Amino acid sequence: MRGTGRGRPGGTETGTEAGTGTETRAETGTGTRVVIVGGGPVGHRVAERLRHHGHDGPVTLLDAEPGPAYHRVLLPSLLDGTLTPADLRLPDLPDVHLRHGVSAAGIDRRRRQVRTTEHDRLPYDTLVLATGARPHLPPVPGLRHASGWLVEGVTGLRSLADCARVRGDEIVVLGGGPLGVETAAALRRGGRNVTLVHPGPYPLDDRLDAAAGGLLTRHLAELGVRLELGRVAAGVLPGKLALDDEWLLAWDTLLCCTGVRPRTRLAAAAGLAVRAGVLVDGEGRTSDPAIRAVGDCTEPADSLFTGWEQAEAVARSLTGRRVPYGGGAGRRPVFRLRVPGLTLGVLGDGGAGAGDEIVTYRDQVRGRYARLALDTAGRLTSAVLVGLPQALATLTQLYETGTPLPAGRLALLLGRPAPRSGPPPALPPEAVVCRCNNVTKAALADAFAAGAREPGALADATRATTGCGSCAEEVRGLCREFAESTP
Ligand SMILES: Cc1cc2nc3c(=O)[nH]c(=O)nc-3n(C[C@H](O)[C@H](O)[C@H](O)COP(=O)(O)OP(=O)(O)OC[C@H]3O[C@@H](n4cnc5c(N)ncnc54)[C@H](O)[C@@H]3O)c2cc1C
Repeated sequence: MRGTGRGRPGGTETGTEAGTGTETRAETGTGTRVVIVGGGPVGHRVAERLRHHGHDGPVTLLDAEPGPAYHRVLLPSLLDGTLTPADLRLPDLPDVHLRHGVSAAGIDRRRRQVRTTEHDRLPYDTLVLATGARPHLPPVPGLRHASGWLVEGVTGLRSLADCARVRGDEIVVLGGGPLGVETAAALRRGGRNVTLVHPGPYPLDDRLDAAAGGLLTRHLAELGVRLELGRVAAGVLPGKLALDDEWLLAWDTLLCCTGVRPRTRLAAAAGLAVRAGVLVDGEGRTSDPAIRAVGDCTEPADSLFTGWEQAEAVARSLTGRRVPYGGGAGRRPVFRLRVPGLTLGVLGDGGAGAGDEIVTYRDQVRGRYARLALDTAGRLTSAVLVGLPQALATLTQLYETGTPLPAGRLALLLGRPAPRSGPPPALPPEAVVCRCNNVTKAALADAFAAGAREPGALADATRATTGCGSCAEEVRGLCREFAESTP
């Protein structure tokens, strides 16, 4: 969700001078005119949080996509048939002027106006760019026509429209990163013939060691996904993909899960400071004080700052509230693969420091594997876990809170409480339980206190578990914990 570079906005812009136009109104304040460009999850969140924080000026949201905003991370669930587009819909935004199917074509910074593809001009006091990212397709010969358009049947996977382009029985997925793996598994569950082509020795080879990668490969093969590992696409012919060993794969759809690039054209054309993404500070400020940017189109000064946090920071900042986030510098990266039937998680970068103690556990027959790296105080610095759901949940909490592991490590990995290890450490209120919707334990406790006494009611109240669903067990546990501590 992030660019990786660091930097602060300012300095390199070449366009019109910021803030010197005919418009003299303040950029911030609850009554100002806000225009948001991009109705993905993060742009949608900005609008929702602005209203939440009492912004009562006009808010207009332009989105190039034709329909209502939706949960993009759940697109694979359409491909396996478990959800419909209606299930993905994000909550409605009352009091926001929504213009779906309308794009921002240009920004007149001097006049503080956005030009739209419907040839009107929208004045703003603050403009928020949430233009997201677009699939990056590899430069394989034959993938595009000479005009630059993709050949029929070739697509990325970023939108509902991309999902609708997935047709036929034979699907070739290019790229064995998280998106490629989750998509290949979903398509296979949906009954298609799927081949996953990946240049590495196993999928997710940039995150997993060989033992974990071997178990993932085995799981995908058992699902019926055909794997072409150590191969790259060399050329696209009508209905065929040529690999570098000259092997030909037939396809009805060629799905490229080969990375994304921030959509920055609008910002760059307006002369904002842009590198890989639009450069922003911790409150989403670009090099123009009247323009903020959030989400996947940005390159934040702190690369662990999530789109959700950016949206909250911008909404607070525009309504004159304190912005509590110090960025994600203290946050520890947690990755969980969303393939039903397989628990796979990586805490940290999966590597180990020089003095780290390494604990490994391997049960090849049952498909279980763990590799933990611990510092001298017994705290996790990184971990790779496969097939150990309970251990992954517990270790994620210990990792995020920086709590040393109990001595009985095998018992912890196998999900049994270690003797004399005491009760598991309680999750602190600020711990994020649902990462997809950024729901903290405190938010769940508040919802519980307000009457949401069942996991389903907690999901309705907070949206926890409605993303990838991997926090469902944790939410059930917290529900029990709240019930026990409620008189
Ligand atoms: C299948 C899938 C699984 C994912 N899983 C995860 C995950 O597990 N964890 C994670 O962190 N991230 C995940 N992501 C990435 C996540 O979806 C993005 O980080 C998130 O969507 C970013 O939201 P955004 O609003 O910044 O941008 P986007 O979702 O890209 O939305 C941008 C919107 O702006 C619109 N737009 C662009 N230009 C203009 C314009 N000029 N005028 C008007 N509208 C415009 C676009 O049409 C689009 O609707 C996943 C993505 C996919 C596709």
